Amino acid sequence: MHTAFRLVSPFNMDSLPTILLKPGEADRIIAGHPWLYEASILRQTKVPPDGSVVQVKDHRQRFLGVGFFNSKSKIRVRVLSTDRIEIDEAFFTSRLQRALELRRRHMPDATSFRLVNAESDGLSGLIVDKYEDVLVVQTSSMGMDHRKDLIVSCLRKLLKPRAILERNEMASRKFEGLEETSGVLFGEVPEEIEVRLNGLLFHMNLKSGHKTGLYLDQQANYQLVAQRARGARVLDCFSFLGGFAIHAAKAGASQVLAVDQSEDAIAAARRNCDANGVGAVCGFEAANVFDWFKIRASQRGDAASTPEWDLIILDPPSFTRNRASVPDALRGYKEIHLRALRMLRPGGMLATFCCSHHVHSELFLDVILSAAFDARKVLRRTAIYSQSPDHPVIPSIPETEYLKGFAFELV
Ligand code: SAH
Repeated sequence: MHTAFRLVSPFNMDSLPTILLKPGEADRIIAGHPWLYEASILRQTKVPPDGSVVQVKDHRQRFLGVGFFNSKSKIRVRVLSTDRIEIDEAFFTSRLQRALELRRRHMPDATSFRLVNAESDGLSGLIVDKYEDVLVVQTSSMGMDHRKDLIVSCLRKLLKPRAILERNEMASRKFEGLEETSGVLFGEVPEEIEVRLNGLLFHMNLKSGHKTGLYLDQQANYQLVAQRARGARVLDCFSFLGGFAIHAAKAGASQVLAVDQSEDAIAAARRNCDANGVGAVCGFEAANVFDWFKIRASQRGDAASTPEWDLIILDPPSFTRNRASVPDALRGYKEIHLRALRMLRPGGMLATFCCSHHVHSELFLDVILSAAFDARKVLRRTAIYSQSPDHPVIPSIPETEYLKGFAFELV
């Protein structure tokens, strides 16, 4: 069903500016990583305009691929294909179709999902989220940004959406020489939309609400964690719009408490809870989780020795901005694990997630074990979680993997 790529005539291809790589720099591209830094470049045949298409060759002039050039970015070239193709409507249509087929294959029942996850889908610099019939686009490279109209036109043909919105308020755009911007690219965006995740209803405001929309990367994990919630007393920490809380309540939890420091998020989570008919078992608190744990423990005094939760979920934001902040982040991760483990009954389950790029899986596990040691608890690992399949991981592009999680039972 793919639209066949149109092969560019050799003449056309050769008219593209060429970026030649230093010896040894071709391997990463061949392995599938699309980023080329300045340090890898030997020379260029002409000065390509920023955002234009260039061809990449190794130091022996062997063709490696085509991609977008940007002299303003540390990532000089983002390779889009290792074939001799034109980056045109047929290219975008084919890549978008392939991305859609992948989601349909792995998430056949999903109606809201990340349709394009940049490098994971061979479209470095482009993210497209599908919230029912509304699409949200982010272009984080100059090449993609310049082709917004083309992308919108391809998306309209492929999915016939009601509206397409641009949420390009990422501060990282300045590293590409791009301004922060947002707005409607096509259609009329309703004030609020109803999104279905695993059949459950979530209201969200795309225009003025949280920048992030929903955490689509947790969609599969909501179901996996909720499978263990029947009859359980569940604590959902860093609950945002209540994704884990509502799935757990719907799966038959006896009591659910959601804690998030954002008053707005808590108000929205409450509404989502009611919309799914589980308001009676769900409670909400707008609080800093670190403080909440301390206060709860001191309020319970002697009763603290009788743990009150059967299932605790920890899904904090990334505590790291860069490598330098890792030690502080680890202290934060350790503290919440220590406090959560003290509140979990023996045999109870902890589902814990880390979305920081800089804290890899082994380091995350080390922190959890160190917290368990201090709490004098032994853990049995019962599940390993990753990001939902609409955020595909390409192991040769380590940046595509960021969400990791574990489930543990208290032995
Ligand atoms: N579990 C959520 C996603 C969590 S995102 C879901 O599935 O949708 C992280 C959330 O943590 C945000 O909603 C943010 O408001 C909240 N947050 C950040 N720091 C916090 C803190 N110290 N205490 C409580 N909430 C915090």
